[in-house]
Amino acid sequence: AKKGGRNRFEVYRDGMLEEEAKKRFLEQDLSEALAADQLELWYQPLYSLPDRTLTGFEALLRWRHPRRGMVSPAEFIPVAESCGLITSIGAWVIDAACRQAAAWPEHIYMSINVSAVQLRSAALVSQLAQTLAKYSLSPKRIEIEITETAMVENSAQIALTLTSLRALGVRIAMDDFGTGYSSLAHLREFKIDRIKIDRSFIAASQSDPGAAAIVRAVVSMARELQIDTTAEGVEQESQLQSLLEFGCGTAQGYLLGRPLDREAADSVARGLIRS
Ligand code: C2E
Ligand code: CA
Ligand code: CA
Ligand code: CA
Repeated sequence: AKKGGRNRFEVYRDGMLEEEAKKRFLEQDLSEALAADQLELWYQPLYSLPDRTLTGFEALLRWRHPRRGMVSPAEFIPVAESCGLITSIGAWVIDAACRQAAAWPEHIYMSINVSAVQLRSAALVSQLAQTLAKYSLSPKRIEIEITETAMVENSAQIALTLTSLRALGVRIAMDDFGTGYSSLAHLREFKIDRIKIDRSFIAASQSDPGAAAIVRAVVSMARELQIDTTAEGVEQESQLQSLLEFGCGTAQGYLLGRPLDREAADSVARGLIRS
């Protein structure tokens, strides 16, 4: 039993070391990714309902790693957040997304993900303001996606950042709505412009009446509060039909369009091809 116990300990410790080592490698490689031009933005189209016209794109970060191929942001963003690289990466994202938006027709908006780490810094607002000026881009063309986690902190700096962002004239969307711990009070307190209903509710909505009820209730609550809604992760026509019935304003998902590289997104944005 003693030996088994020790072995279990060793396995556990090796697992920890492996995770730690992987994180350190990622961190090291990531610190060179910006300078080595390995980061790219892809763009997923957003469609208004019920007409299904293209209204905007969400910018999604991709890392073309020289040996590992495409690394998912779900894997490297948390690393970038914990080692502080998210500040320079986030600044690069804002610049690239605004530059792209400026090249597209005026009715197309750009939605940009920002991390809680960025919201905690006063630099975000001035950087965004400078970038809008640099590309002569109207703030109305930009939406900033924040997660519920950022709200929960409820720090003075985050409240200040959100207020300043709204004063700048950009819109604010609450991402992954329903998965975090945010209270409904945050929707009013921070004057959120849009709720993005998390993909998990959309995925379950056809098989689980509870999930469907939540989607319907969120859409009608949002309408009362004059908040726009986007359904994330729409993969099936039947899901889209329910969303139409509920009166959801915008849909995003593989059914309507996958994330596209810059060139393909460019053609879709200009109306040359459909996604
Ligand atoms: P997110 O903001 O919730 O982005 C939506 C994710 O769902 C994207 O994954 C997108 O490719 C995926 N998706 C879209 N439609 C569908 C669908 O119909 N089915 C399924 N199964 N998935 C769908 P992606 O691009 O891998 O991004 C993962 C997460 O990484 C994002 O989740 C976001 O939290 C984070 N992220 C991506 N880009 C950035 C960025 O520039 N900055 C920051 N801070 N985070 C980012
Ligand atoms: Ca998002
Ligand atoms: Ca989301
Ligand atoms: Ca997510």
